[in-house]
Amino acid sequence: MAEEAKKVEVLTPEPKPGTIDNLTEEQKKTFEEFKALLKEKNEFKEEEHNDYLLLRFLRARNFDLNKTYEMFSNCEKWRKSIKIKDLCINFEFPEEEEVHKLYPRFYHKVDKYGRPIYIEQLGSLDLKKLFNITTEEKMINHHVYEYEKLIHTRFPACSNRAGYHIETSCTIMDLKKVGLFQFAKAFSFIKSSSAIAQDYYPEMLGQMFIINAPMLFTSTWKLITPLLDPVTVKKIKILGGKYESEIFKVIDPENFPKFLGGKCECPECTGGCSRTDPGPWKEEEYTKDVQWPPKYCYIKDEEEKTEEKAEEKAEEKAE
Ligand SMILES: [Zn+2]
Repeated sequence: MAEEAKKVEVLTPEPKPGTIDNLTEEQKKTFEEFKALLKEKNEFKEEEHNDYLLLRFLRARNFDLNKTYEMFSNCEKWRKSIKIKDLCINFEFPEEEEVHKLYPRFYHKVDKYGRPIYIEQLGSLDLKKLFNITTEEKMINHHVYEYEKLIHTRFPACSNRAGYHIETSCTIMDLKKVGLFQFAKAFSFIKSSSAIAQDYYPEMLGQMFIINAPMLFTSTWKLITPLLDPVTVKKIKILGGKYESEIFKVIDPENFPKFLGGKCECPECTGGCSRTDPGPWKEEEYTKDVQWPPKYCYIKDEEEKTEEKAEEKAEEKAE
């Protein structure tokens, strides 16, 4: 954490059970065992796997060593399969502006706890139109790219500002103008992107507000909640059209876009609230020690070197 950065008064939550400052003796033991196991299997990478990350996986599996290891190694396999390092360095999304018109997703300032606020609006999402502009694969890659940026740039900047480690965000899901038919169609896409969050980026949801939820959604939600993790369900609040007072318990109106009932009006010349991307991650004071893409993206392990050689050989042959 950059020492010279000016700290800002934020609400500091009690350290959550299972986080680094709040571990039981038993959890400490499992944590050490988990690290030792990864080292033994040659899967521990110093630059990539910090304690916060390992603890997120442990919490997601209630400190069950075998289950945590299974989850973690599945995640590592997935990261290899999508070539995460290349993705962080080289991902390009020139269609972003067009995609944004159909499916606005953006970060906008921080909540009272200092956590980044993430807003999604599903009202204009038309998958048919969307996949005329881009592909499902690119949407998923963009989603992953944004997760990596969240971990490596937004969280560290927010932590520098707040003076405590921040690793969760505050999400607003706006269902305004979402018809049930449209929601059903978009559901499979939403399911696949939330599966990525659950399996590969666990324990990063601080809180979620679903706003402008239609009545039918509320009753469907009641039906599906037993299928979801109770800890996650607790973090999600379903609100109808009068959501402001609930939201303002957690977010200052100044930090919430005016078009959603707050007071913020980011300048139109920078794209307004949904395109300006304001927050500590844009402020020099809080980003001195922030590096993007992360250093480890430029480090190749043995397996990657071998693969690269094989690819080069195949290319030579093809020529
Ligand atoms: Zn704004």
